[in-house]
Amino acid sequence: MTTHSVPRGTKDILPSEIPYWHLIESTARNLFDLYNYQEIRTPIFEHAELFEQGIGQGTDIVEKEMYTFTDKGDRRLTLRPEGTAPIVRAVIQHPELIHHQNAKLYYCGPMFRYERPQSGRYRQFHQVGVEYIGESNPEADIEIISMAYRFFEALGLEKLTVNVNSIGDEISRPVINEAIRQFLGNTKWLEKELCPRCLPRFNQNPLRILDCKNEVCNQYLSGMPDIKTLQSAACKDHFHSVIDGLKRLKIPFKVNPFLVRGLDYYTRTTFEIISDNLGAQNAICGGGRYDNLIKKMGGKSTPAIGFAFGIERIILALQAQKKVIKNTHSLIFIAPIGYTYYSQGMQMLDTLRRSGFKSEMDYAQKNDLKSQLKTANKLKATFVIILGEEEALKNTIIVKNMKTGIQTEIPSKTMVKYLQAQT
Ligand code: ATP
Ligand code: MG
Repeated sequence: MTTHSVPRGTKDILPSEIPYWHLIESTARNLFDLYNYQEIRTPIFEHAELFEQGIGQGTDIVEKEMYTFTDKGDRRLTLRPEGTAPIVRAVIQHPELIHHQNAKLYYCGPMFRYERPQSGRYRQFHQVGVEYIGESNPEADIEIISMAYRFFEALGLEKLTVNVNSIGDEISRPVINEAIRQFLGNTKWLEKELCPRCLPRFNQNPLRILDCKNEVCNQYLSGMPDIKTLQSAACKDHFHSVIDGLKRLKIPFKVNPFLVRGLDYYTRTTFEIISDNLGAQNAICGGGRYDNLIKKMGGKSTPAIGFAFGIERIILALQAQKKVIKNTHSLIFIAPIGYTYYSQGMQMLDTLRRSGFKSEMDYAQKNDLKSQLKTANKLKATFVIILGEEEALKNTIIVKNMKTGIQTEIPSKTMVKYLQAQT
């Protein structure tokens, strides 16, 4: 370990990558605004119990991934591993967030999970998430899933698969769990063959065996009846309405009967968006309905549905399809020929920046035009403004178009107008 590099599982986001971040964040903000969602910002750390209760004991996150510590006041705190539990806490703490029985909220920021770092899996990563709180009807599910899809479409992400499923409600859950036990129970060598993670699940939460990534566990489950057949009529109707709605909006999706997702609080609809441009860590977005969570956390019984996507994986997917995103503002470079003109250059810089032009001047007192133009080229300036002795006497400046090489002499006071017409 060295103090001269970042901690394992974290990384510096360097300026060359920042245009991707800005694009993703601004696309999300603009789109979510169109659907009438509002941003909320909650603390980076919360009481540990919030996540233990909210995400559920026995989940990967609570069992082994949380950054929990005791502060100097003996409080047990956790760096947030996800965004839904804090939003639920905020909605309970600020009932005024709910208008007409609804709160439509989104968040964006770092999350922390103690995982084994690999491509697309970090210990500090960033999520953007959305929560539609207060609506139980399938239209909310359709809005949420289609909004996630429209977001990726707006970004130009290709080769996506939207997987959708329903895991039923609290009434069908015991029936489903029993059916899985019965199905697996027929297998003689079960105890020897199920992976070490699934063996305790067999008794505690058999549903979770469905999304195990272990091949042997998967084999055992092949031939298992679709859990949707075991759900109540209301759950089935809900699911069919969601499917019909997605079809009407022409959202391409697949029904995946094995999709249950890792968090305990989901009910009915679950979904996940996969990018075929990524390797093992191919899930870029996950979400679902959580109709019991708010009550479980001490609020009024309120239905809700949401999703979260990981920014790092989206950037990897964009880069995999060779999408290059750059800062597109052009740069104007001021080149005073001789120190006498530096103060005039500083004033021009101020004027340009206040008029909305990205602009720069080299303060290293290079007095010859040649080396200044070299610097301007390196910085990829589109225009260079040359301030020389001859021009100063006439109150003019020379504007050099770096693309065409053409130089134009103009009165100094028309600089902004001239550039506005050019760019
Ligand atoms: P995975 O199956 O990859 O572990 P998950 O089910 O734990 O994902 P969620 O908790 O649903 O993921 O989080 C939503 C999204 O956040 C994921 O689809 C992924 O894009 C991203 N994500 C989750 N964990 C990480 C991580 N450790 N590093 C980077 N991105 C992550
Ligand atoms: Mg995970």
